[in-house]
Amino acid sequence: MVNYNKIIFELSKPGRQGYSLPKDSFETDGLKDIPTVLLRETAAELPEVSELDVVRHYTNLSNKNFGVDTGFYPLGSCTMKYNPKINEELCVLPEFTSLHPLQDESSIQGALELYWNLQRMLSEIAGLEEFTLNPYAGAHGELTGLMVMKKYHESRGDFKRTKVIVPDSAHGTNPASAMVAGFDVVEVKSKPNGSIDVEDLKPLLDDTVAGIMMTNPNTLGMFETEIMEIAKLVHEAGGLLYYDGANLNPLLGKVRPGDMGFDIMHINLHKTFSTPHGGGGPGSGPVGVTANLVKHLPNPRVVKDSSGRFHIMNDNEESLGSISSFLGNFGVMMRAYAYILSLGKENIKEVGPLATLNANYIKESLKDDYLLPIEGVCKHEFVFDGLKDKSTEVTTLNVAKRLLDYGFHAPTIYFPLLFHESMMIEPTETESKDTLDSFIEVMHAIAHEARENPDLVKNAPNNTLVRKLDETTAAKNPVLTYKALKESQE
Ligand SMILES: *Cc1c(COP(=O)(O)O)cnc(C)c1O
Repeated sequence: MVNYNKIIFELSKPGRQGYSLPKDSFETDGLKDIPTVLLRETAAELPEVSELDVVRHYTNLSNKNFGVDTGFYPLGSCTMKYNPKINEELCVLPEFTSLHPLQDESSIQGALELYWNLQRMLSEIAGLEEFTLNPYAGAHGELTGLMVMKKYHESRGDFKRTKVIVPDSAHGTNPASAMVAGFDVVEVKSKPNGSIDVEDLKPLLDDTVAGIMMTNPNTLGMFETEIMEIAKLVHEAGGLLYYDGANLNPLLGKVRPGDMGFDIMHINLHKTFSTPHGGGGPGSGPVGVTANLVKHLPNPRVVKDSSGRFHIMNDNEESLGSISSFLGNFGVMMRAYAYILSLGKENIKEVGPLATLNANYIKESLKDDYLLPIEGVCKHEFVFDGLKDKSTEVTTLNVAKRLLDYGFHAPTIYFPLLFHESMMIEPTETESKDTLDSFIEVMHAIAHEARENPDLVKNAPNNTLVRKLDETTAAKNPVLTYKALKESQE
């Protein structure tokens, strides 16, 4: 077998270098200017490589990467859609990137206007009164929103509301954020069709409930048709409704969480609004609230005065405090702003129906080979419970790995936890019918292989650069640096 590490990393040759500095001014005299306490006693252990070696190393690595720009990436719950390149060009405009957060307000009116306009746009899309753009990610938005919820109850002198209800199908960040915000998590069950069981919810609603966290369409891609009834029950019990809007694709411009009765929500700009994500890059999780909660939003906030000037407001006493440095990840906001403006009010309404059409097309085309636990029209994503024919013992993990051999990214697997062999597929609105057809063809081919030659699928991936990885060791004992790699090979 080829030694991947060797090829990729061990390029160092003693004495080889990729730079040259004038000897006299740096290596001798220059050192005199550096205080002795700061000088190294032993030379740094760095790879000794030429400039060309470095260029090839990084270019080759980038070619081994898989992303939306290289292939189909149907990762459910993550919305890996194409992010138009024009938004990337706009967000690096030096007029914006050279701004400093401590600059005087009067010199950054344009940036504040963009921030304020985006707050307004998101408020309109969400059907809520006001947004903060400060949180850095979806989970950070959840925490911020739950802190608003807490502040709301406490400001009314109601300290007994310690519980947050979370459906058993929820994204893992929901219960985690509720715990971090200091609430106890109570689980509400889903019905066989994936919707919240209202009968199971009713007895949970007492005066210790702070609120409920939901997403609609839910994690299984199904619309919660009883949402108005749920909102009424939760509000009557004195609780608030939190909407996990990480993935807003299905209802963009069509349905508004505020109209469904939600009080607080977050949006992942890095899923729905054109910021590439994966691998933990910069994100943004704006939080929106109803009118009565605006005063609890985090500081600082951007406001507009009657003469049309923008201000950074930092002294709101009833605010939950500050949850970020300054105003959040501005580059991500610029992409979202450009994306919303380039789609416009009319085209933005096309996103949801196209994402829904694409998901249903794949679902209906594959349900003869893959087990569809929940029938009916889905929204932007859906879940299979593995292959229909369980006798081959080919698992969801095997199918996912076999997809890599065919040049597709795998769907989200083993989530949601409601089924043993979950395979969550979200094609998004940006894929063509040709791409969807190729994916369908390959998924059928894998189902066929599972019947005819199950070992081929069980041993996949067969022709990727690295074979099946030991994910447990990778997570428990990550080797992330050149030095660590060398030590691990000694
Ligand atoms: C992605 C996602 C989150 C978390 O967002 P991060 O930016 O990764 O913190 C929360 N809820 C749902 C439904 C998601 O899909």
